[in-house]
Parts: sequence; structure tokens; C-alpha cells
Amino acid sequence: MKFTRPRGTSDIFGERMERWREAELALSAYLRRCGYGEIRTPVFESTELFARTVGEATDIVTKEMYTFTDKKGRSLTLRPENTAPVMRAYIENGLHRAGGISRFYYAGPMFRYDRPQAGRYRQFHQIGAEAIGSPGPAIDAEIVDLALGLYRELGFPPLEVRLNSVGCPDCRPAYKAVLSEALASRSSELCGACAGRAAANPLRVFDCKECGPVKEKLPLITAYLCGACRSHFDVLQRMLEEMEIRFTLDPLLVRGLDYYTKTAFEIVHPELGAQNALCGGGRYDGLAEDCGGPRVPAVGFSAGMERLLETMPRPASGARTPAGTDVYCVVADEASAGAVLALARRLREAGSSVVVDLSGRSFKKQLGAASAHGARFAVIAGLAELAPGTAALKDLETGDQTVVTMAECAGRIAAAPRRGA
Ligand code: AMP
Repeated sequence: MKFTRPRGTSDIFGERMERWREAELALSAYLRRCGYGEIRTPVFESTELFARTVGEATDIVTKEMYTFTDKKGRSLTLRPENTAPVMRAYIENGLHRAGGISRFYYAGPMFRYDRPQAGRYRQFHQIGAEAIGSPGPAIDAEIVDLALGLYRELGFPPLEVRLNSVGCPDCRPAYKAVLSEALASRSSELCGACAGRAAANPLRVFDCKECGPVKEKLPLITAYLCGACRSHFDVLQRMLEEMEIRFTLDPLLVRGLDYYTKTAFEIVHPELGAQNALCGGGRYDGLAEDCGGPRVPAVGFSAGMERLLETMPRPASGARTPAGTDVYCVVADEASAGAVLALARRLREAGSSVVVDLSGRSFKKQLGAASAHGARFAVIAGLAELAPGTAALKDLETGDQTVVTMAECAGRIAAAPRRGA
């Protein structure tokens, strides 16, 4: 019986893992520098949390959730997104009582049962941020800038921001009524799924990839915004201009989640093809109440790690040093392995990166592996000509080799000039 990973998931290792870690560390450091603290929420939550907030008529809730019943009959769902969980945690932990703005970031896996293709997976990873507590457009501008900064931080060229306003519970009902009427008059042009969407939640027709031509002919939300939404949208645009952030207004951008109010935005990458959104975000002033809390305005974004890594510029060769090996220990005879492992522990405690070759292969092959690892030193133990308790210390940069006691070995390595110094 041979096992394979579930469709739409991936194993991450080797160079890709190194790039991933490097990006995640750089982005975490960046977000913390911007005043956002990390939050970790469970990978699964009650199903109701997502149904209520993301929206009963959305693709995520109707088709894409990994839902299961636990042994006590509770319905749980692997998180398809992390904004609702963060808001749930914010309220459950009473963080709203502190007042002011709470700024969080998160990173981790999300799960959606979608049709896998390039750039779209069933387990994917997001890094995102949420600023909870301010109703004004300035914090929306901060969030758009923060999201763009992720890519700046990793050396991307300037990216395009698409911006829209999706209104609020004051203006959306009137718009929805007009939209429903327009959809009814064009029902023959809609795909099968959209016929259902048009009835349940007409705004979701804008999420459809097949109904492009119809979408172009529908009334647009921006013509129906109430005074408060209009002025929020105008001020945000002025601020972005002042910050020299280039954006394009996209009145068809509504995002696939029901909780958005007012601002919605996406950052896209020209090279990504059909799945070209690197990052999506917006304001969600009703989410705290949907999660059973008080009314607290909030705004955030979420960026896909897979798409980010796929498009991340490669460093010019030599620009970044990989996490290399400092010392490679060659164990020519298993009897010396205990002494070598003890030495390796001392070296690691002193800050070196050490690999001990426990393969049992020939001394020559192990020494070859030391070079292949790019190690600075090889410690060779267990050769017949070496007295007990000693090892040959080989400087792989100069080729110099000396016999030293195991006790001396650590000191010699520590005293050697650093690589490239
Ligand atoms: P969303 O949570 O749908 O607003 O998506 C935010 C970002 O997450 C997108 O712009 C993508 O970069 C990424 N993303 C969403 N769904 C997937 C998926 N199924 N596979 C890979 N990345 C995804």
C-alpha cells in the first residue's frame, strides 16, 4: 500500500522550504515593526462561526468547507480563512474592553475544498493582518500600505492595487434590490450556479468566473453608496494618493466573503494568470457583532503564501547566504560516534551549525558529502591511525588538516576566522 498526499496539498521541503521560512521570517519581522502582534487561533472552529460570518450563500460556505462532526456530535470546520477566528478570539478574550485599536497578524494553513489548479490549493497558507477598533479611512490606508509593504520587503516591483467600496447595511439593500431586478431580466445569460446565487445573495454573482460578460452590464454598487460610504471611499482615495500609492478603481471587485463593508481591495500580480490575486482585504464593520460581540469596526487583509513564493524575485546569486553547514563530522567507525555526537552538541551550543554523518558509508564518501554541504570544517573521527579521543580537523577552505583532541576541537573551530571574513 503506497500512500499519496491528498489532492490540492503539498509537501514543502528543501530549497522551497528555505525560501518559505526566509519569507515568513522577514514578513513577521516587518509586521511586528509596524506594530502588529502575532495571534494564533485554532486550526478548526465551530462551523457556525464561518457560516454566520463568511455568509451562507458564499462559495466557501456552500461548497468549500472541510466540515466534520467530533465524537460529541459538534460540527467543526477546518478554517477556510482567519479573519472570523481572529474576531472570535478578540471578543472571547475581552480584548475589546481595552478600547483603542488592536493590531494583529497571523500566518498559517487554511483549507478550502476548491478545484485544484496552478495557484489554487485545498490546503494553502496565508499571512494576514487585522486592525480592529477604528472606523475611519486612515486605518484602511494603513492596511493597504501594510499589505503592499509585504511585497516591497521581499524585493517585488511595485504592484497594482484594485480598489472598490462595497457599501454598508444602510445602502446595500437598495442596491441589492436593483441588482436582483437586473439579474432577473438577464437570467437566461447567467450560468446555472448564478441563477441560484442571484436569488440567495445577488452580490455573489460578481464572484463568478463564468459570467464575465453579464457582470459588465449590471448596475454598480458605487452608484448606490450612501453619504457615509461615499465620503469614506473618497477620503481613502485622497489619502492613498497622498501616500503615492497607485491604485485602480474596480467597481466589479466585491470579494467572495459576505462580511466586507465599505473598502474592498486586492493586490494583483501580472504574471499569475487566472489566479492573479496575491492578496485581498477590506473593511468588516459588522463582523464583531456577527461573532456575538459589540459593534467594533475593523479592517484587514490576507495574502497567499504560495502565490507570493511563486512570484517572489530570486536574489541575485550570492546576495543571500543559505543556512549552510559550518562543521561536517565524518564518522569512519561507529565506535567513535558517541564522542562525535558529544562534540557536535558542544559545537551547536557554541552557535555552529553541525551535521554528523551517521550513514556508515565509506570515509571518502562522507568527506565528499562534507564538501557538497559547503561545510567550512570536517571533523574526521574513528580512523585506525587516530589515537582514541582524537580527531582530524580539516579546514575545507584551505585544505589544512591537524590532529587534535576532541576537547581541543571545539576551541579551534571557535577561534577560526568566520567564513568570508
Ligand atoms: P481570500 O481569503 O479568498 O480573500 O484570499 C486571500 C488570498 O489568499 C488570495 O489573494 C490568494 O493569494 C490566497 N488564496 C485564497 N484561496 C486560495 C487557494 N485555494 N489556494 C491558494 N491560495 C489561495
